[in-house]
Amino acid sequence: MSFSSLVSDLTHRAASERDDMRSQASKARSYTSTAATSVSISGDISSQLHGGYSHPLARSWQAERQLTKSMLIYPLFISDQPDDETLIPSLPNMHRRGLNKLVPYLKPLVARGLRSVILFGVPLAPNCKDALGTAADDPSGPVISAIRLLRKSFPTLFIAADVCLCEYTSHGHCGILRDDGALNNALSCERISDVAMAYADAGAHCVAPSDMNDGRVRAIKLKLIESGIAHRTLLMSYAAKFSGCLYGPFRDAAGSSPSFGDRRCYQLPPGGRGLARRAIARDIAEGADVIMVKPASQYLDIISDAKDIGKDLPVAAYQVSGEYAMIHAAAKAGVFDLKTMAFESTEGILRAGASIVISYFTPEFLDWLEN
Ligand SMILES: [Zn+2]
Repeated sequence: MSFSSLVSDLTHRAASERDDMRSQASKARSYTSTAATSVSISGDISSQLHGGYSHPLARSWQAERQLTKSMLIYPLFISDQPDDETLIPSLPNMHRRGLNKLVPYLKPLVARGLRSVILFGVPLAPNCKDALGTAADDPSGPVISAIRLLRKSFPTLFIAADVCLCEYTSHGHCGILRDDGALNNALSCERISDVAMAYADAGAHCVAPSDMNDGRVRAIKLKLIESGIAHRTLLMSYAAKFSGCLYGPFRDAAGSSPSFGDRRCYQLPPGGRGLARRAIARDIAEGADVIMVKPASQYLDIISDAKDIGKDLPVAAYQVSGEYAMIHAAAKAGVFDLKTMAFESTEGILRAGASIVISYFTPEFLDWLEN
């Protein structure tokens, strides 16, 4: 075959293929239009899902719970140094702040829709830690001062206070110790419930014991009832708090690493689903108003269990410092887009059953949820 006849042959074939495609397309159109009726009558309708989520609004309707600003609680680290404003290197964008820095920092966030914060005290003054964690309920300490300041400055802001001793004890454990170094459960419950009372008295809307001593929810609830402030104080229990390696950046922030041993004898073992279910049921029975699961993304089954056991209670989940730092690190490494993963991880937490999320992404969400 000569070159000119080869070109003419190829041109002819291309033209006939185009004609063929056109006629197939027109056949497909006429086939679709004539076949639609028979599909709708005898076809498998249950296989047709795309129509349910082709539009962005329809996609949002597929979630049982939509993330809203009012679901978010923002953790704040309150330093006992009034002018402190120190970036926490392992916790991107997060600072320890003293009292003088709090209101200016929070003002624009409240204006953008911040509804709730949870306070963690960070005592830095030399020699302020002792075996009883005396500084935890020091009336002039960082948490009580911050509760009073925030109540006065932001009347609509819901203020939760984390209740524990580990930031304030010289040994860094979450209670009072026996001679053998184990927790003295009875004394720890007494002390923890006194600290919770001090925060509630100062005006905290919510006290949230994170210590994991057995019986502390009951001890706090009884004292709240006896002092006549149970009706205005929400008791949020860290019911299922797992031990593990996701708290590292938080301990940098709060200065709460134990000076010896670890917390595995009172925080739950990562595989302990049954224990978590028992702890959740126990804390509900002891008077918890909200059940919390912590960490969140690695424990979605436990969040789901909490919603199952506590059907009539709100479930909170704490996306902890290690989860937040991992998302930042992976986004920085180009694994995914930060905002997309912040949403995906939080929506996963809501899907599992939570309706409250304690999140370091709260300031970003206040902007992102605006659009
Ligand atoms: Zn603690």
